[in-house]
Amino acid sequence: MTTQATSSLPDYAPVPESSLGPALNEHGYHFGRVERNLFWVTDGTYQSAFLATGDGVVLFDAPPTIGHNLRRAVDAATAEEGTTSTVTHIVYSHHHADHSGAANLFGDDVIRIGHEETRRLLLRDNDPTRPAPEVTFSDTYTLRIGGERVELAFHGPNHSPDNIFIHFPDHAALMLIDIVNSGWVPIYNCNLSEDIPGYIDAPATALTYPWKTYIGGHLGRLGTRDDIELHQQYINDIVESSKEALGKVDPTPYYLKYGTNVWAAVKGYLDEVTELATKPVVAKYTGVLASADIEEFTYSTTFMIMQSMRLDLGAGSQVHP
Ligand SMILES: [Zn+2]
Repeated sequence: MTTQATSSLPDYAPVPESSLGPALNEHGYHFGRVERNLFWVTDGTYQSAFLATGDGVVLFDAPPTIGHNLRRAVDAATAEEGTTSTVTHIVYSHHHADHSGAANLFGDDVIRIGHEETRRLLLRDNDPTRPAPEVTFSDTYTLRIGGERVELAFHGPNHSPDNIFIHFPDHAALMLIDIVNSGWVPIYNCNLSEDIPGYIDAPATALTYPWKTYIGGHLGRLGTRDDIELHQQYINDIVESSKEALGKVDPTPYYLKYGTNVWAAVKGYLDEVTELATKPVVAKYTGVLASADIEEFTYSTTFMIMQSMRLDLGAGSQVHP
């Protein structure tokens, strides 16, 4: 193991107070009521949720970083509610281990629900901490338990090929993981997303649902519709900034310099365009969205969006005469 001296590590802009959530308890988590019997849990970095009904608890994701604190949160909340603490169902938002790698902590009798692609991917990954869901769906699924209703829907690939929208129509809440980090910028590469057009469109789809509270899966606080709109603005600024930069930078010097080493020319050109597109966005959102000044995040997100404009939308492609 190598250990960096903390004095040699870079400093960043302070996190805006509005981006932070409630303090964690002595076990390192916080749980709270979203509305009525819908609760959320966070460790400050990850989020999950659960519905405490008279017929059992439905858990939505089981991030391993929250781990056994999920049980503690469920026990505490159901004690307040006076309902059973037995987790009867687990709903997977998507197959990624960082959101579901504690799913095995709830025994073998639990009913696991997920998209059919989540099942396929979890069978492929063959990870004992994330047993594949037995109950699957392709487009929509209504979960009814203890008089409550949860609507699951797949609107196409976005962050992952299997990421679903989890709507709580009777709790005015929407859970959509790894798309919008409320109060924060996405991390590298559009929050490590696989389908960029799907990632860009997902917030607009989220806003077509009626809800007040957004559970985004990351960081320490819940979100609002304003958080979704601010995120959309940030992404849209990257799109516009990329278009502008693509129109400005002349690739000729790179090809003249590097000759037959065409990859060196491509690198030089794309780096300059990405850098140029990133700068104004970083400046605009520093102090507005937490970590906007960690340039690598906006830079790599800009790079992915620019490549998607080229590869998915055909921007800038010219047919040789
Ligand atoms: Zn993910």
